[in-house]
Amino acid sequence: METKKGTKISDADAKKMDRSKMGIAIAGEADVEGQEMYIGIVECPWCGLRGRAILDTDRYSFFGCGHCGHHFHA
Ligand SMILES: [Zn+2]
Repeated sequence: METKKGTKISDADAKKMDRSKMGIAIAGEADVEGQEMYIGIVECPWCGLRGRAILDTDRYSFFGCGHCGHHFHA
């Protein structure tokens, strides 16, 4: 499975970004029925969490970490 290392987005920048474009990185088994083809692993650059996320760049341009709540590009 693909692992993408994230790059940090500062809290100030994250506030300006479109929340509808934010995916969430979740540790463990995320329930994302029908999206299996897009599932990958992203690594949070803030806390090091490796979480499952939907890697669909048409839908999500950045991610929020389900563990520490910070934001990153992946
Ligand atoms: Zn994190």
